[in-house]
Amino acid sequence: MDKFIPLSVPNLKGNELKYVTDAVETEWVSTGGAYIDRYEAEFANYVNAGTAVACQSGTAGLHLALILSGVEKYHEVIVPTLTFIAAVNPVKYLNAYPVFMDCDDSMCMDMAKLKEFCKTECTLIDNKLINNSSGRHIKAVVVVHVFGNMVDMPAVMDIAKEYNLKVIEDATEALGTYYLDGRYKGKYAGTIADIGVYSFNGNKIITTGGGGMMVSSDTGIMKRAKYLSTQAKDDAVDFIHNEVGYNYRMTNLQAALGVAQLEQLEHFISIKKENYSIYKSRINDDINGLRMLGFRDDIRPNYWFYSVYIVNTEKYSRKKIIESLANDHIQTRPIWGLIHEQKPYMHAQTYKIERAFDYYNRVVNLPCSSNLSADDVYKVIEKISAIS
Ligand SMILES: *Cc1c(COP(=O)(O)O)cnc(C)c1O
Repeated sequence: MDKFIPLSVPNLKGNELKYVTDAVETEWVSTGGAYIDRYEAEFANYVNAGTAVACQSGTAGLHLALILSGVEKYHEVIVPTLTFIAAVNPVKYLNAYPVFMDCDDSMCMDMAKLKEFCKTECTLIDNKLINNSSGRHIKAVVVVHVFGNMVDMPAVMDIAKEYNLKVIEDATEALGTYYLDGRYKGKYAGTIADIGVYSFNGNKIITTGGGGMMVSSDTGIMKRAKYLSTQAKDDAVDFIHNEVGYNYRMTNLQAALGVAQLEQLEHFISIKKENYSIYKSRINDDINGLRMLGFRDDIRPNYWFYSVYIVNTEKYSRKKIIESLANDHIQTRPIWGLIHEQKPYMHAQTYKIERAFDYYNRVVNLPCSSNLSADDVYKVIEKISAIS
């Protein structure tokens, strides 16, 4: 039987066991310990962010990022519809309302539509952006760097400035992606807006099992992030809590994994880049009706996820590709279900969503783990070319 080729799995062949063993042997396994401090410092150093605060998951980080951005009950937050639902759910945790935006051809939020929405559907009153249809205050926008690509950050930062919006970058999928050119040359995904958030779940480019990180150049905000993530403890001896906090801190065991994973991140990116180039050249040159989607020209992507786009929908459907590769023991997946179509969000406001449907129907993600060999990649391509 053919060996199973998974979509995206952890690669733990570095110092993971050594550091985790050390954490266990020293009996620092909970939400304190040297690996947490070390992971935060090394992570901040890698993405060149001011400060990093580790937390329990990407979702927890996004929840705190919204709180730190001042999002409260009855506010609205602009979010993409084409994303993983974790980027949107925290808006609901705060009893605020999402407004869904379309994507552009990078599959990230469409900045032309965002701008048009702010201009034509909203009014700036006392420097607050008010949504004409709901009368509510739009406080923030959450942008997601999809599959290793970069959101058009200069555009979103300009719009945010003009309309007084806070910007949160969900940079989970683009850890390691940075601008090669332009206003933000050298800047990493997650470090441009007010707050950046990353997840280290099992399928991400580096993993801590479960875990997340928040970064900001504002040390005051990061101090508050740490405070809120540790039950808002104002006095550790007398247990004084002046606010409602959360148990969102990362554990030392997770951080031990994270330190070891971060050491290998650039190596993982180089493997992912090589495998991506094989897919791209073979599929684009040799297979009619399919095309590998690319990344923005002005970035060094992290090549996290590979997306094949169905050009010829008479010959291919995403169902056909996914099922036929599954028969060959190759795991692929469709893009996420659009969030504005999910049950909790069906009645939320949307703005001119068009392209997201197209990508939803036509994109399939191909195996992309950093321990995938070139032979595995050739095998996937061979099986794709055999689909008729
Ligand atoms: C995986 C992912 C998350 C979720 O993070 P968790 O750590 O699983 O809570 C959030 N946003 C995006 C874009 C993701 O891909």
